[in-house]
Amino acid sequence: MNFEYPPEAERFRAEFRSWLAANLDPEVVGATLSDWERPEVLERMRAWNRSLADAGYAALAWPQEYGGRGAGIMEQVVLAEEMHRAGAPGTLNPIGISNIAPAIMEHGTEEQKRRFLPAMLRGDEIWCQGFSEPDAGSDLASLQARAVLDGDDFVVNGQKVWNTLGNLADWCELLVRTDPDVPKHKGISCLLVDMRLPGVEVRPLVTITGEREFNEIFFTDVRVPRTALLGPMNAGWRVAMTTLTYERGGVASLHLGVRKKIGELLDLARETEVDGRRASEDPVLRQSLARLYLEGEYLKLLSDRAVSAAIHGREAGPETSLAKLVWSECESHVAEVAGQLLGPAANTGRWGRERVYVRALSIAGGTTQVNKNILAQRILGLPRS
Ligand SMILES: Cc1cc2nc3c(=O)[nH]c(=O)nc-3n(C[C@H](O)[C@H](O)[C@H](O)COP(=O)(O)OP(=O)(O)OC[C@H]3O[C@@H](n4cnc5c(N)ncnc54)[C@H](O)[C@@H]3O)c2cc1C
Repeated sequence: MNFEYPPEAERFRAEFRSWLAANLDPEVVGATLSDWERPEVLERMRAWNRSLADAGYAALAWPQEYGGRGAGIMEQVVLAEEMHRAGAPGTLNPIGISNIAPAIMEHGTEEQKRRFLPAMLRGDEIWCQGFSEPDAGSDLASLQARAVLDGDDFVVNGQKVWNTLGNLADWCELLVRTDPDVPKHKGISCLLVDMRLPGVEVRPLVTITGEREFNEIFFTDVRVPRTALLGPMNAGWRVAMTTLTYERGGVASLHLGVRKKIGELLDLARETEVDGRRASEDPVLRQSLARLYLEGEYLKLLSDRAVSAAIHGREAGPETSLAKLVWSECESHVAEVAGQLLGPAANTGRWGRERVYVRALSIAGGTTQVNKNILAQRILGLPRS
């Protein structure tokens, strides 16, 4: 396998790197989703999002007709690498651009595409994904939120949970049950719902980090116009699968963040004293750091493999589940080694947050156990659980 990037990708890197040097607002570097709640941060993020969109970098993979560049996988990889290198945040629509927009492009009417995609691209409107419910997560098809047609409107009742960005969102890609009398996958529809409609109530959930990253959303007799339907009635499962395929496809660049953290831990080990000597000289810590480094490099190889598959036109297969699994475990090992290295100092500040936040990574975007089931069936050929 050739690990070198083609010359055109390197040309794109030079172009984008110099654009970033000239345009990245240092005030948005390092801003997390929960920082966006502060109006001054949100305003700066909007300005940053618009400049990304105007320069054609907000959604590189989108077709040109919707404001993207129709760029290939190598340019997307380079863009992600350069954004990470510079500490640049993405757009205000991390879920919208990569997950919801592909579903709108594939299943939406011309009217829906024109109405929603440009505003999503520029961050003028923020989107969230209303899929999970208290009793429907891994088994998403069990969802119970109901929508009943009444004249030209759907009347929606029910609850969603773990909804990232719901507190800031203008729109929600919402899965609802529209036919309770057929097998569960066949009675679901997808609605594009205005979050300002009467009867929509968002209650932020405070997580273990003290942040308000996600929300519960309650729908009480919310009248949603029939034109909000994305795709055919009762074909919502197909729409959801388009969304989730793209969610899982994002794993190709996951190694960037975690390998950066591993590099930081290695630097810290060279500077930190443990029991009268540098941590990097402690034999037990050296083992942990070496193992961590290898895990990060392994993840990079998995990612290269996924990129190579995409270049050669092969569909993302179970390796996506493998990369998600290895990534979330690697992130949690980073947090553990930070604890070993820094001792009580790893209980607060940036590493303190990291150590409790990693719990979420074994759940979001497909849990560890569900991914292991996929690997067992599709790679090891074991029977369905
Ligand atoms: C940071 C974060 C952001 C999120 N953002 C969103 C969002 O924006 N929109 C949204 O709709 N949802 C979101 N979610 C929800 C996420 O999709 C669900 O948490 C996830 O699908 C798991 O569902 P659950 O929490 O109901 O757990 P459950 O599915 O109830 O699982 C509970 C436990 O049982 C295990 N389990 C379940 N089924 C099996 C099985 N068949 N075999 C073996 N073990 C099993 C699971 O692995 C887990 O350990 C987010 C979650 C997190 C952590």
